[in-house]
Amino acid sequence: MKIIISACLLGEKCKYDSTDNYNASAVKLGEAFELVPVCPELFGALPVPRMPCEIKNGRVVAENGADFTAEYKSGAEKTLYIAQECNACCAVLKEKSPSCGFGKIYDGTFSRTLADGNGVAAALLWENGIKIFGESKIDKLLDEML
Ligand code: SF4
Repeated sequence: MKIIISACLLGEKCKYDSTDNYNASAVKLGEAFELVPVCPELFGALPVPRMPCEIKNGRVVAENGADFTAEYKSGAEKTLYIAQECNACCAVLKEKSPSCGFGKIYDGTFSRTLADGNGVAAALLWENGIKIFGESKIDKLLDEML
């Protein structure tokens, strides 16, 4: 079985600030599944490093108001394409991100406040029937899939 997974969880330094979100449980998933790393923001042709963004009024914006909605949408579409091409059984995505977050994301005020909502890529995957697990739900994934 294949899983698409946020590349930063596997240690790729693709975050906006050139760091990663290494997660040992996410890496361990590779013992049971074939992991297909994705980074929707890089797929949207955004650079590393890049300005951090949040979703505000349905747009993806930086704190200075620069609008990156088109790049985020493009990256989400490429991520969906890969998930469908590799017939992924589900996705493991970085929580809270404006691309990968699912269920809770930052609220657009750049104050580290969370609100209900989904990142752009997570929303598109979900709309297309792909089950999503945040990194804190990896144990649940193992229970459901194995
Ligand atoms: Fe990680 Fe997703 Fe952000 Fe890429 S877009 S750095 S995979 S959280």
